[in-house]
Amino acid sequence: MLLTVKSKLTTNHEQHDSLLKTMEKFNEACNYISVFAFKKKTFGKVRIQKELYYEIREKFGLSAQMTVRAVGKVAESYKVDRKTLHEFEPHGAIVYDQRILSYKSADEISILTLDGRIEAGVQYGESRKLEADRVKGQADLIYKNGTFYLMIVVDLPDAEPIIPDDVLGIDLGIVNLATTSDGKAYSGEKCTEVRQRYAKIKASLQSTGTYSAKRHLKKISGRERRFKKDTNHCISKEIVQTARDTNRAIALEDLSGIRERVTVSKAARESIGKWAFLELRNFIEYKAKLAGVPVFPVDPRNTSTTCSVCGYTNKKNRKNQASFVCLACGHTENADFNAAKNIAFRAAVNLPIVLCS
Ligand SMILES: [Zn+2]
Repeated sequence: MLLTVKSKLTTNHEQHDSLLKTMEKFNEACNYISVFAFKKKTFGKVRIQKELYYEIREKFGLSAQMTVRAVGKVAESYKVDRKTLHEFEPHGAIVYDQRILSYKSADEISILTLDGRIEAGVQYGESRKLEADRVKGQADLIYKNGTFYLMIVVDLPDAEPIIPDDVLGIDLGIVNLATTSDGKAYSGEKCTEVRQRYAKIKASLQSTGTYSAKRHLKKISGRERRFKKDTNHCISKEIVQTARDTNRAIALEDLSGIRERVTVSKAARESIGKWAFLELRNFIEYKAKLAGVPVFPVDPRNTSTTCSVCGYTNKKNRKNQASFVCLACGHTENADFNAAKNIAFRAAVNLPIVLCS
């Protein structure tokens, strides 16, 4: 499976300046190429390269491969829209490939700048160590808040898929971020707490409106996002591990269903952001793939209003956010747990039957 891993470059002042200068020249070249392409209505990579290659190299001091990359970046962006002139930010990404970026080890790279190659350290957010030979050719160099990052494309081996003999159903939500059909709930309380705490600080900073307040605001948003991401990493890891250890597949509702089923107000929904679900879901899916655990999407209709014991469906079964009481058989349960069991059941009926010979 191809995955993009974000890594941070550790650079000294000199290296930092070299990279920054390179990035600025690269994007300056992109803008120059863009004007040419737009005016001449020449959008093909090969044709632009033919016309501009030597000029770009001389004018901006870019290496051969960087020139090719700059042309590539411009041509790529015009594939989407040719009606307007495209402009490139001075600190827009540079696409590096094997010819201008190589890995001395998983923690050290050699990367080309206008001042020649520099050797910089690489740090990864996730604890997982990268094996250098897993790294595919390409990586985007990006610059954010004074730091360089490499978005590295790595090829991770999928594990041998298990043949599940049962299904672990997962209900995703807001009060509980995830609830399994085993009855384990991952509370969203801590996330809500953090969100509310930051919301207060944000509100006061927003009303201040000064430059430093804005900077502080940005920092806080980043912190909140990272907290949420860490939480999602932990939850998804544990869920996948549980499924793997018990030889079960994972069942999740189809995406469209998750959006439909969120019954909080529009304002609250926006403040939480759709990505809250998407991220946890994505994490579960990719970790499952790496672990060889199959993931089954199931029809999300009525998972929260159907009784997991007798199958009776009625909106009124769901008394409120938290509790489910079946009007037919009287079965009473936490609403998310009930939904997770329905999700597991829907996938389980489709499990392949292994015939013994
Ligand atoms: Zn019932």
